[in-house]
Formats: sequence, structure tokens, C-alpha cells
Amino acid sequence: MTYKRNRASTSDAVPAAQAGRYRGRFAPSPTGPLHFGSLVAAVGSYLDARANGGEWLVRIEDIDAPRTVPGAADGILRTLEGFGFEWDGEVVWQSRRLDLYHAALVRLQLAGLAYPCACSRSEIAASASRPSVDGGLLYPGTCRAGLKEGVAARAWRLRVPDREFIFHDCIQGQARQNLEKDVGDFVLLRADGQYAYQLAVVVDDADQGINAVVRGADLLDSTARQIWLQQCLGASTPTYAHLPVAVNAAGEKLSKQTRAPAIDPVDGVDLLRRVMRFLGQAEYPERNAGSLREFWEWAIATWDVAGVPSTRAVSLAETRCSQSSVEREQRR
Ligand SMILES: [Zn+2]
Repeated sequence: MTYKRNRASTSDAVPAAQAGRYRGRFAPSPTGPLHFGSLVAAVGSYLDARANGGEWLVRIEDIDAPRTVPGAADGILRTLEGFGFEWDGEVVWQSRRLDLYHAALVRLQLAGLAYPCACSRSEIAASASRPSVDGGLLYPGTCRAGLKEGVAARAWRLRVPDREFIFHDCIQGQARQNLEKDVGDFVLLRADGQYAYQLAVVVDDADQGINAVVRGADLLDSTARQIWLQQCLGASTPTYAHLPVAVNAAGEKLSKQTRAPAIDPVDGVDLLRRVMRFLGQAEYPERNAGSLREFWEWAIATWDVAGVPSTRAVSLAETRCSQSSVEREQRR
């Protein structure tokens, strides 16, 4: 993908936010406790929604059963509450919406857009000519023309067009991706029977009327796939703003895998102030330290999406967070 900030052009993304009230969301995967990186996404999406007079919904993306950690979702919700986030409506759980994903898959099957794939991982590895944009294997389209007789389907894939998807990202600027050349026909229903993340996200955003997506830039490369899925399902495309992802000194995204420390609402305003620095926002006045309510009032009033760094990743070591407890814990 290539990026150019703030350049208008023909775009696949029709700004849906202009039609109706802003409706955003935070959609964590319960694979572990909230860490600094996920707090950044929560704060960015929350402030952008509230500063635009919009709604902010919380959706638990527990669609990937093998990766879901029991109790993690409750921990995430308690932590959000502890930091003073207030969400609109009921929390939505992907694991309870399988019927919706099934219905969408059937629509795509009936339209001839989804097709069964019998390839194993090793077969794809043997035939893929190059890696896909997200570091996986570019599916070479082996089963596009139909399965050989007597061969059983393992997964279902979405046919993608050989054309460039161009969209404007409110933070990263213009982005473009050719789905066939950069991604290949992608999986909707996995060989293990789980619905793929891309399908669930698009179905949920459409069903919940989400018209503004603010999330980590690690999902920027998924955006063209989601726009194509929206078009296939007749759903409108939300506006997109991809926040820089927090990385450690080694350049790794903060995550459970890189042993990012869990955050604690005990650090309340202190930690939120560091998130605001990370997001290139105004410095929170020292005199207000302490009250979460005061912090949020100030943060909503001063939020400026134009201040967010237009880079995919920001190292915690590069920010003025170097003395923070986050950094100290990173070094442990
Ligand atoms: Zn195949």
C-alpha cells in the first residue's frame, strides 16, 4: 500500500459519517488484558466519537474461539469502566452473532462471489508465488474455477477483483491496494469452521450502523478487503482513521505475544495523559491531575485528529513516555 496524506482523489470510501449522526466503536479481541496499545485505540476512537457529538459502541471480537482467553473480555470491560469510558447501548459479542455471519456467507455464495477452497496450507505454500501484503501467503486462485471431483471443501473464499482500491484515511492519508495482486481471494469461513475476522467485522459494522472506524494502523491493510466486502454485501463504507500502533524498542507491536504489561485503572489520569502525548494531542494541565471526569471533559474539548502522527507505528521510546511505568515495565 502507498500513502499520501490529505490528498483528495477518487475514492472507494464514500464518507458515510456525513449521512447521519457519527457512530463509532471500539472492538477489542479478548486474547488477554488491555495494554497500552489497546488503550490508545480505545481513547482515539472514544474521543473522535465524542468530539463529533457521536455515539461510541463496544464490541467484543471473540469470533476466534481458539485465541479467546476465558475471562479476558470481562477484564477488558472492567478496565474500560475503571478508566471512565462510557459506551452507548449493550456490549455486542461476536460469538453470539454466528447466524448473521452465516447469512452473509450464504448471500455471497448464492451471488457466486464466494467459492469453496480445498487447498491445505502446505499446498498454498507450494504454489504461492509471493507473500501477501500482511505477511501471509498470496492465494494463487487454485480453486477459483471449481473443485476437482471428489475433493472436499476446506474453506470458503471471496473472489477479489484485479483493480486498485483507493480510499482516504483521515490520519494516514490516501491509501491504495490492489486486492488480487496484494492479497488474493481471501478466506470467509476457515478450515476449522470459524468465520474469518474480515467477514465478521464487515457484517457487524453494517448491522450496528457504524459510519466511522478509528482503530490501529495494523488494520490498514485489511481496509481494502473490508471495503470490497461492503460492496459485495451492499453495505455502505464508513470513514476510516488509522491510529499509529505502539511498538516497543525492538519495533514489535505491543501485544500479549510481546508481553506488553496489562494496564491498571489505578494509574488513571497519569496513563491517559501519556496516551494523549502518544496521539500528538495537547498536554493535559498538571493542575487537573486526579479526576477522570475532568480529564475526559478536557480531552473531548481539545481532541484534534489532525494532531495524530500520520505514521503506522510510534515507538514508546520515541515519545515522552520514557519515564513512564509502561516503559519501566517493558524493560523488566
Ligand atoms: Zn484452494
